[in-house]
Amino acid sequence: MTLFLDRDGIINRKRPEGDYVKSWEEFEFLPGALLGLRRMAASGARMICVTNQRGVARGRMTEDALMDIHRRMLGVVQEAGGRIDAVYYCPHEAGQCDCRKPLTGLFQRARMDFPDIVFADSLVVGDTISDMAAASRLGCGSALVAMPEIAAAICETAAGQGIRVDFRVQSLLELAELLPAWRFRTSKQERT
Ligand SMILES: [Mg+2]
Ligand SMILES: [Zn+2]
Repeated sequence: MTLFLDRDGIINRKRPEGDYVKSWEEFEFLPGALLGLRRMAASGARMICVTNQRGVARGRMTEDALMDIHRRMLGVVQEAGGRIDAVYYCPHEAGQCDCRKPLTGLFQRARMDFPDIVFADSLVVGDTISDMAAASRLGCGSALVAMPEIAAAICETAAGQGIRVDFRVQSLLELAELLPAWRFRTSKQERT
């Protein structure tokens, strides 16, 4: 199983609308993220981070600064007993590429690097409709991490677009606790 984890709003706190995490000083892990990552990694799932970062295209940060943030993020996750196997980011402006979510370029690239990835046995974890839409296009399961009132609005939009949301949780830790039962169910479905 592969977990495709969005970054902002999932692993770390999102900056206010229109702003970006431009340096490590602005990177703040969300409650439950590190422990959740640790539990998920311990379950043997492959852990891949897929993130839209158009602050690069807008000149708000350099690609080097972004890579520095990811290097440090991976270090802290590892120190906390977790694991992120790879990070894929889209530095482009909307409409300029095939990789900005909800497009699927980042996921396809991950599968080139890890050929045993099966999208039907993968879960996209995110906090926006574009994450849920990417999951839907790929045939992956989807998990929405958001506060209840925001989640309700996103689920309503998703339903209107025929997009499925499989899980609604408030943190990665909460999701980590639900995953074993889900994996048991899907493996049973595969057997029948
Ligand atoms: Mg996000
Ligand atoms: Zn892109």
